[in-house]
Amino acid sequence: MKNFKVAIVGAGPAGYFAAQALQNLTSDEISFSIDMIERLPTPWGLVRSGVAPDHPKIKTVSKVFEKIATAPGFRLFANVELGSDLTIEQLKERYDAVVIATGSAIGKKLGIPGEDLPGSMSAATFVPWYNSHPDFADESINLTSQTAVVIGAGNVAMDVARMLALEPTELDPTDTAEHAIEELKQSAIRNVVISARRGPEHAAFTSPELRELPKLEHTNVVMHPEDIAVAIVRAGSEIEKDTKSNLDAMTLIAERKATSHDRTMTFQFLATPIEIKGNGKVEEVVFQKTGSDERFGIECGLVITAIGYEAAPLEGIPYANGKVINEDGYVNENLYVVGWAKRGPSGVIGTNKSDAADVMKLLVSKLNEPKNSGDVTEIIAHNKIVTQMHWEQINAAEVAAGEPLGKPRKKAVSRQELLNLGGL
Ligand code: NAP
Repeated sequence: MKNFKVAIVGAGPAGYFAAQALQNLTSDEISFSIDMIERLPTPWGLVRSGVAPDHPKIKTVSKVFEKIATAPGFRLFANVELGSDLTIEQLKERYDAVVIATGSAIGKKLGIPGEDLPGSMSAATFVPWYNSHPDFADESINLTSQTAVVIGAGNVAMDVARMLALEPTELDPTDTAEHAIEELKQSAIRNVVISARRGPEHAAFTSPELRELPKLEHTNVVMHPEDIAVAIVRAGSEIEKDTKSNLDAMTLIAERKATSHDRTMTFQFLATPIEIKGNGKVEEVVFQKTGSDERFGIECGLVITAIGYEAAPLEGIPYANGKVINEDGYVNENLYVVGWAKRGPSGVIGTNKSDAADVMKLLVSKLNEPKNSGDVTEIIAHNKIVTQMHWEQINAAEVAAGEPLGKPRKKAVSRQELLNLGGL
């Protein structure tokens, strides 16, 4: 029996599914010791810091992650950062294979004037802010204006728009960051415009998310019937299944009568943002009607762009176009990549399962003899490593703190608070 040591960097869905794929490839001849290394004191990646808190069902995949983490041969090393606590070269020397699963954490930019004004930010900042990510808890979000504009027509834009347009008491029974609930309760925002540069037939929303919108209890969701009608004509008869399903869902929204709720979420199509204007802060977004010279402005105090992500570069790993350079997940020597860092920010959480399984098959096919060359604990200098045992303590404490409040968990926010809960 050969036992190979594999390091997985990044404890998000792609990392866990890579570990699971290796566990599934265990046989009488071959087994794996898996060390998962994570920069934050908490695992689960986007399931903790990305998924919208009003979508608790999506987060139940964490049960699968915990099963993977408690299987024999798996160790968690959280609160350990690649770059400062150890280097990629040190990992490559000590492990038979190293798998990068660090996702794409940086929000893409529009590249238009005014984008850096206070009040303009990426979903890559806003989403982790409302999800208690330790690095974003202190962000200041301008919720003092009547109108907010969300740019992008994907599911992240929809999550962001919904979080801004919901009646905030609806967030009380969720694991939304306490600081975010408090600020959203004070928010003056009543109109949220979600703006797409192309037509409804090209929107990247998925239909289950669209179909959920009419169920919002305190928010008027507006799509203009003529926008959808012309999109259906443009899409023609040889329309793809997913596009048809989206347009059907949009028709249902467009046909609804306006309600009297004081919060509104309005979809705007065929509008390309060309400038963000303001004197020291965001005051207006200027759009050009896509395909024409016509311009118009929307006055607002907050602009959030949700137009895709790029992978954050890590030293010693080749990058291009916001991704790790790879061929079917193979990077170089004994280095591999899975998930968004490999293929870019696309697909739902489950997409990472088949993706990681393919890369792990390739990884295993290239293994020869185990190296047996030292343990990662020899190189991590500090003693605040959050192991699976510490994480289970943190997890249990958060769940217990949420219980009397009717929440699935009350998240600790700062690194110190998290380490304290873990007894570190
Ligand atoms: P996305 O689905 O790729 O959507 C990005 C949107 O940004 C597109 O509408 C795109 O429009 C627009 N865009 C890009 N560049 C732009 C520019 N310069 N100006 C204006 N608009 C621009 O990305 P995402 O929303 O970040 O989502 C990432 C992935 O996570 C997706 O696969 C998504 O389905 C998934 N996700 C799923 C859920 C869920 O299942 N509930 C929730 C969140 C995210 P064009 O098409 O015109 O380029």
